[in-house]
Order: sequence, then C-alpha cells, then structure tokens
Amino acid sequence: MYDVMIIGAGVSGSACARELARYKLNICVVERAEDVCCGTSKANSAIAHAGFDADQGSLMAKLNVQGNKMMEELSKELDFEFIRNGSLVVCTREEDRRNLQALLENGIANGVEGLRIVEREELLAMEPNISDEAVAALYAPTGGILCPFGLNIALAENACVNGVEFKFDTEVLNIEKTDGGWKLVTDNGDYETKVVVNAAGVYADKFHNMVSNDKMTIVARRGDYYLLDKTAGKHVSRTIFTLPNEFGKGVLVSPTVHGNLIVGPTANDIDDKEGTNTTRAELDEVTVKSAVNVKNVPLRQVITSFAGLRAHELGHEFHIRELPEAPGFVDCAGIESPGLTSSPAIGCMVADIVSGILKPEKNPDFVGSRKGIVRPSEMSLEERNELIKKEPAYGNIICRCEMITEGEILDAIRRPLGAKSLDGVKRRTRAGMGRCQAGFCSPRTMEILSRELHIDMSQVTKSGGESRLIVGTNKDRI
Ligand SMILES: Cc1cc2nc3c(=O)[nH]c(=O)nc-3n(C[C@H](O)[C@H](O)[C@H](O)COP(=O)(O)OP(=O)(O)OC[C@H]3O[C@@H](n4cnc5c(N)ncnc54)[C@H](O)[C@@H]3O)c2cc1C
Repeated sequence: MYDVMIIGAGVSGSACARELARYKLNICVVERAEDVCCGTSKANSAIAHAGFDADQGSLMAKLNVQGNKMMEELSKELDFEFIRNGSLVVCTREEDRRNLQALLENGIANGVEGLRIVEREELLAMEPNISDEAVAALYAPTGGILCPFGLNIALAENACVNGVEFKFDTEVLNIEKTDGGWKLVTDNGDYETKVVVNAAGVYADKFHNMVSNDKMTIVARRGDYYLLDKTAGKHVSRTIFTLPNEFGKGVLVSPTVHGNLIVGPTANDIDDKEGTNTTRAELDEVTVKSAVNVKNVPLRQVITSFAGLRAHELGHEFHIRELPEAPGFVDCAGIESPGLTSSPAIGCMVADIVSGILKPEKNPDFVGSRKGIVRPSEMSLEERNELIKKEPAYGNIICRCEMITEGEILDAIRRPLGAKSLDGVKRRTRAGMGRCQAGFCSPRTMEILSRELHIDMSQVTKSGGESRLIVGTNKDRI
C-alpha cells in the first residue's frame, strides 16, 4: 500500500513527486513510457512565461507568476539551464495598440513585475531584426528560457534520491475505489494507494472521468515547430511573441538556452492524442507567421522539426484539487501552457493538498539540491585536462556537433533514473541534438548503452518498447 501514487512522470508529476518527498510518505510515480519527460514536457517552446496573458484571477495566472519567480533559484538548486532573457509581444498595427495596453494591464493585475510598453525606436535598438511593420511592444523582463528536459529530469532525479519510487513501462488502465483509498490497475500489476495524483497530461480527463460524474474534456492541441542551427541562435536575443488570440500565444521566435533558434508553434485541435507528427501545412504556417514580427528568419538553417500536444481543457484553466466526490483523488489536469513555467508552483500546491489529506510528518532527511552532468565543454582548458586525467572517458568525444563526451553519456546512464535508450541519453546530455541530428553519434552511443546495460546491440532502443534500431548483429550472422 502506497501513501501516494502519481500517474505521469512529466514535469507536473515530477514536480509533485519532488515536493511530496519533503514528507515521510511512501510515494510511487507510474509512467507508461520508458523514461521521464516523454510526453508534452519534452516538446514545447521552453519559455518561462512572465504571466501577463493568463486571465486575471485564474489559477493559471497565479501559478504562472509564482512558478516564474521560483525558476531562477530552482535552476541553481537542481542544476538545470535557465536564462532570464526577457520577452517582447510585438504589435504591428496601430489599431492593435489597445490590445497591447490591455495585455499590460492584465499583466500588472497578475502581479508581473517590470512590464512596460516600448516604442519602435527602443524596440529596434533591443532587437535589430524586428519587423519593419512593428510599432511597439510589451516588454517583460521577467520572461525566460529554460531546458525542459533539464527541469523535468532534475525534478524526477531529486525525487528519486529522496526515496520516491518510479515504475516505468507501466500503463494505468483503470482506477477502482477501495476501502483504504484506490486501486490502480496497470498492465504491470495492480497497486493500492491512499491518494492518487492524476498528472497524466492529455489523458488526465480519462482518469478524472473514471472517478467523477462531473465530466472533463481535454483536447490535444498540436503545435508544430522548427528548430534552427546555432548559427541562427542570435537572430533575436529575447523571446518575440505575437499578440495572443483565442488559440493562445501565437507563433514565437526565440533563442534557446542551448544557443539554437526555435520558431513556432501552431495551434491545431486534433482527435489523436498520440498525433505528434508535424504536417506540411502547419510548418508552412510557422514560416508565414514567424515573418510577421521578425524579418529574415534564416529558415534555411532548420535542423529539425517537431510537434507537441497541449492538454487543452475546454475551460482553459488548470484543474488542481482533491475531488469532493472522490476523496483521495487529486487532479493535476488541464496543464497546458504555461504548465512548464508553473510546474514548481504546481508541485507545491499538490503537496499542500496531499499533506492536508494525509497529515504526514516532515522528512528530516530531504536533500533539496542536485548536481547535473559534468560538462567538459563548459570548462576552461586547464579544468578539462584535470578532469580527463582523472576520467579519460571525458576526453573521448562521441557527439561532434554538441561536443558531448563518453564520460557525460556514462554519467547519464549510471545516475539515478539513468538513461536506458538513445533518446534518454539525448535528453540528458544533448548527444544527437546538434546539426547532424544523431547521424554520426547514434551507433557510438548505442555501443555505450549496450555495454553499460549488458544488452545486445539489437536490444538497444530509440525510446523504449519496440523502437529497436537494428535487426540482428554481426555476431548473429557468423
Ligand atoms: C506546443 C506547446 C508549447 C508549449 N510551450 C510552453 C512554454 O513555452 N512554456 C510553458 O510554461 N509551457 C508550455 N507548454 C506547456 C507545457 O509543455 C505543459 O504544460 C507541460 O509540459 C505539461 O506537463 P505534464 O507533466 O502535465 O504532462 P506530460 O508531460 O504530457 O506528462 C504526462 C505523462 O503522463 C503519462 N501517462 C499518460 N497516460 C498514462 C497512463 N495511462 N499510465 C501511466 N502514465 C501515463 C505520459 O506518458 C506522460 O509522460 C507548451 C505545450 C505545448 C504542446
């Protein structure tokens, strides 16, 4: 019998797990994928939104602003990449100025600090590649960019070292009421728990509707992106937004924390909750819309495209509460954008709700800090040489584009909740995220995975399950 079972190891579930680890509780996270950060948390704009556009008085607005404020300290505590680069919402038509003003007022009411309107001249000085049509912009100095994998993995790793159990490749199929709480029926056995936290992303409505008559609908709202090479990373230095509309924040152009340029997303409601494919039509829309605010976006430098699914709840609000009709069942649902930004605050809110139910003691052994993977490419030559003398694997470059060493990949595999697949290594180290998109390093990373996990090369997968990369090996042919 667990005290708490959390469905989903995305950024929401992982943030909840980490905050709940501050208490003496027996906690388990169940995740249908092979790793953390396999759902929406791995495919988004990676912006720490300032919080000016969420509706005044909404939970979304409150948690966005709180999460944004927490992000800087958290990034130091858990060692993931975060830069407060600021953001600009660009207005290209005089008649839209009143919308910009309304956004400013909404942001001030939401408690966003430092907001102001900048006029064209100042805007051009800030961002020389801004569109010739731009008349003014809303500047939010608290806006930021972060590594979404880094945040999600750091939260989960820290929860794990503080005693939270993670069950991967475990899909929750059904939820049943028991005398002491709930039974989770999974494809990997049944588990009993006093409290359930429903952090299942686009599938959170399915679990909510199993225990409640007050039905919820979550629609998958797809967003397509282009990711550009680092040669394009300085095209803008702040995150450039369009004025938001009923479909959200529109197409943005932004640097990433790793020095690339990200352009997107679209917003298209689809029926398939697994539909993370990009489409020609949506990518063309990205091309057209990105040119409205930023000129000469160097789209010839595209290195990859991808799509993510927003868990769009019809009322466009976060649903975080214990259901009165299902005591011990806590929804963490409808976590669409700004869910990444809000995640630290979401974790705190869910921990408050759960500790209110179970009244646990504090965990005196909780360790809040965590050190990420050592990065030789960020060291001075002297430091790097010292490291290589001690650990020669840090002198063996595996991914040439991102300059990732064997030492980093070994660390990614060996650390708590370590990588088990090519994508797991990629999200932890960036091996395969560069210009050649893993063309060169895949076989070399596979060899390391095979060696470290004591599995045959033919068993190494891209992302768990049946996603094996090769059929048979030389050994089989002999
Ligand atoms: C296009 C796009 C752009 C975005 N941009 C931003 C942004 O710039 N800034 C920002 O703050 N937010 C942004 N977001 C929102 C943010 O990415 C999400 O709010 C956040 O990642 C949601 O995290 P989650 O943990 O709730 O969901 P997920 O990351 O989807 O995690 C849910 C997990 O539950 C698991 N699961 C589902 N069903 C089951 C089951 N039956 N059994 C076991 N496990 C299950 C899934 O495998 C998954 O790992 C964006 C989203 C999209 C799609």
